[in-house]
Amino acid sequence: MKDINEVKTILINLINFLENKHLNPRILESWNPFFQQIGRKIKNYSLLSAVVFLLSVFPAFPCFGEKIPVAASIFPVADMVKQVGGDYVEVFSVIPPGASPHTYEPKPSVMKKISSVKVFFMIGAGLEYWNEKFFKNTGGRLIKIVLSDGVDLIHGKAHHHVEKAGKPHSEDSFANPHIWLDVEIAKSMVKRIVTALASLDNRHAPYYEERGNKYIAELDRLDKIIYNETGKFKTKKYVSFHPAWEYFARRYGLESAGVIESVPGKSPTPLEIKRIVEDIKIHGVKAVFAEPQFNPKVAEVIAKEAEINVLMLDPMGGPGINERESYIDIMKYNLKILREAML
Ligand SMILES: [Zn+2]
Repeated sequence: MKDINEVKTILINLINFLENKHLNPRILESWNPFFQQIGRKIKNYSLLSAVVFLLSVFPAFPCFGEKIPVAASIFPVADMVKQVGGDYVEVFSVIPPGASPHTYEPKPSVMKKISSVKVFFMIGAGLEYWNEKFFKNTGGRLIKIVLSDGVDLIHGKAHHHVEKAGKPHSEDSFANPHIWLDVEIAKSMVKRIVTALASLDNRHAPYYEERGNKYIAELDRLDKIIYNETGKFKTKKYVSFHPAWEYFARRYGLESAGVIESVPGKSPTPLEIKRIVEDIKIHGVKAVFAEPQFNPKVAEVIAKEAEINVLMLDPMGGPGINERESYIDIMKYNLKILREAML
């Protein structure tokens, strides 16, 4: 048995070497000197036992040059997963840039893509009301990581998400899902991502942990910048397009004085518009937040009536969207826009 152990050692060293170099195992074939050495060792054993041995070793190392396919519901989460997963994870962001999760319906092409994914990183709190379709589509194999688990959620009658039939989603109807806009919460989301990837791909756990820690340190700096800057704002009151900024407001001391679309996707009535304009005047609100995922027309009408500014804030960002191609840049962009109106 001494010889077979030597073969094992050589193979494992070789595998380690290839993995560290990010090489494809097919390259094995071009490694003649190594192969000859292995060949000499294996000669004494039947070909069958060598094959059985190789088959038993290889499935334990799924990451030969291949990345683990995972999905994330929204771009900010996809970016966080990418920051942690680095070279070993391939992230598919489900909701395309410019779309709103509140009115989103997964297309057949997305359903197809989801069937090859191992893990789905989602916010929860009712945001991905369509996620059961993903789960069914993979025959229940899809692992769901719900990043709002354990987060101190904001509940309120102002926010719920509509199913296609127009009914509010029952269980999570009143939880606000926009947790990622509080950078302190984002740090806890990243910790969960690290834990999930490390248990999924145990072999690279130290890699994910190191990247996660570095990223959390960056988020920590970002949180302090936003905290200090918003602390200097002369006016704290705002009117938002939909209730996306409540976690941001709670963390950074802003105050919502009204919401244009309390149910995302449902336009306000003329009476509701009139009330919002009155609220703006009563509370001395300086800005209405519009968002690229929604039609800004109503926000513009209200701002004009109330004689204040419309600010284009963006909770989502996305690839190819200038200044908002990473979660950190999204938050820096929003801070910059806020400073223009509220400082
Ligand atoms: Zn939203």
